[in-house]
Amino acid sequence: MRSFDYHCATNPAEALSIAGAAPARYLGGGTNLVDLMRQNIEAPAALVDVSRLPAVIEETPNGGLLIGAAVRNNVVAAHPSVRTRYPVLSRALLAGASAQIRNMATVGGNILQRTRCAYFYDAAGSHCNKREPGSGCDAIGGFNRYHAIFGASEHCIATHPSDMCVALAALDAVVHVKGPGGERDVPLLDLHRLPGDRPDIETVLQPGELITGVALSPSAAAAHSAYRKVRDRSSYAFALISVAAGLEVVDGRIADIRIALGGVAAKPWRALRAEEMLLGTDPAKERFLAALDAELAAAKTFDGNAFKVELAKRTVAAVLCELAGVNP
Ligand code: SF4
Repeated sequence: MRSFDYHCATNPAEALSIAGAAPARYLGGGTNLVDLMRQNIEAPAALVDVSRLPAVIEETPNGGLLIGAAVRNNVVAAHPSVRTRYPVLSRALLAGASAQIRNMATVGGNILQRTRCAYFYDAAGSHCNKREPGSGCDAIGGFNRYHAIFGASEHCIATHPSDMCVALAALDAVVHVKGPGGERDVPLLDLHRLPGDRPDIETVLQPGELITGVALSPSAAAAHSAYRKVRDRSSYAFALISVAAGLEVVDGRIADIRIALGGVAAKPWRALRAEEMLLGTDPAKERFLAALDAELAAAKTFDGNAFKVELAKRTVAAVLCELAGVNP
């Protein structure tokens, strides 16, 4: 691990000022970034600790919630308003990592955590375009059980590891950002980039920009939502497939539906085609399966992950049946 400067900010303006003076990385709970530094995958000259910025969850004028970027993952998961109005978010957080890591990890850090592709972490022996642009991708033709079936490129097929972000995608969350050029809001669905020919550039954030919070709008589908994660062991494992879904049924017809998938792309993947096909229909397992067939027709699989297509289809259908109260 190389030496670096450490600064601790007490408010966003101070964080921006320090980061602007010395090119630096923002440090949340450190549950991913510090690992990357220990393994010499990242070597920032300076860290600006933003984990002590105000960590609040507050009501918004439109009846939603604003969750501060420095709020710890377990605090979000246990918050009464999150549990009752956004259960998918609480369940997704509790499905991620261990209790100890959730006690440390922040909302901002969770959003910006990096892939867990094994080749990315093997700096001594593997080719990885994300770690070293132009060096190749050992996952293509290698061990790719955990890798993408949507949105991959010939340069990278990694997935985003966050459970929380899958729930935020289903909730149409909006990320608040402050930077040298001012403040802006970025829909969570637009924050992460697909790899294209630059898998090392993972988000649309500009240098020095700091995530300050995440806003959630109220909706009946958000309040009637669920998260399911399929993994190789029952805890402390990343998703093979995960599903965040919300459903509102009015007079026997689907009035609102949200489906987001995790473990399938370099960003949370919203199943917009399936949602479009199901909106306005009466909920039934056969209809769910047909819509998922249409969604998954665009999947591109590799030797080790072809099983994800059927797994995604069955998992989403099971979650939707549960939410709709129809026979699975
Ligand atoms: Fe690197 Fe992406 Fe290939 Fe993994 S999938 S080895 S992260 S380029």
